[in-house]
Amino acid sequence: MATGLCKSFGGIRAVDQAEIRVARGSITGLIGPNGAGKTTLFNLLCNFLTPDQGRVIFDGVPISHLPPYQVALQGLLRTFQVPRVLSRLSVLENMLLAAPLQTGEKFWNSWLQPLRIRQEEQELRQRAWAILESVGLAAKANDYAGALSGGQRKLLEMARVMMHRPRMVLLDEPAAGVNPTLINQICEHIVRWNQEGVTFLIIEHNMDVVMSLCQHIWVLAEGKNLADGPPSEIQTNPEVLRAYLGQ
Ligand code: ATP
Repeated sequence: MATGLCKSFGGIRAVDQAEIRVARGSITGLIGPNGAGKTTLFNLLCNFLTPDQGRVIFDGVPISHLPPYQVALQGLLRTFQVPRVLSRLSVLENMLLAAPLQTGEKFWNSWLQPLRIRQEEQELRQRAWAILESVGLAAKANDYAGALSGGQRKLLEMARVMMHRPRMVLLDEPAAGVNPTLINQICEHIVRWNQEGVTFLIIEHNMDVVMSLCQHIWVLAEGKNLADGPPSEIQTNPEVLRAYLGQ
């Protein structure tokens, strides 16, 4: 999916000739010590940052030249370490604003436009309610998003991403700062969405989550690829233990 990616900030080489491949339909992990370059790599994959070198291919199509909103329209979405929800809007409004509207463009010069917009809005509302119900946030639909707990905000951010019907989602630390019960629920939702066809690449420091969810894991250290393989191999890889776990 990405090869030869490089990104420097002044004198800091945050990502250095990094490579990553994610099998379609998989749940893949991206781990590494603090400052290893994981979030920078996510930013490069979605074009939130422009790489100094290297390229990103998504489903066979080069996407490094596309702005992030067009990357999202291709079906590659992401979440953030600190969830980005619209705190002063309700949970439902957050969901409705997350979905890209189709009708405006397709029917802009047609007398059918108001009708189609209303129909599309109804469909979006139904979809939003269905997703909120599936993640246990329907009872909070009319609450301000800012009133949710940190873990619920993470869940809402993932739910918003699902409004796009993504093909692949990059999750930046979905379990960080979340209570254990909600972590289990978040993992169950990830597995369910994966079974429905969504591919995941997950940055996570919680090793129980990474090892139980992921079929394949990539390890970064100081911006470079250190190792990749199935969880059983990564867990026992001496270089990984030394660099990442300090053993
Ligand atoms: P963590 O696990 O702590 O989130 P990470 O593996 O995601 O870390 P990055 O956040 O990608 O690591 O940071 C990699 C390096 O790049 C760090 O040294 C960081 O300080 C630096 N860095 C990241 N973003 C910027 C920026 N916008 N400006 C300057 N330096 C940056």
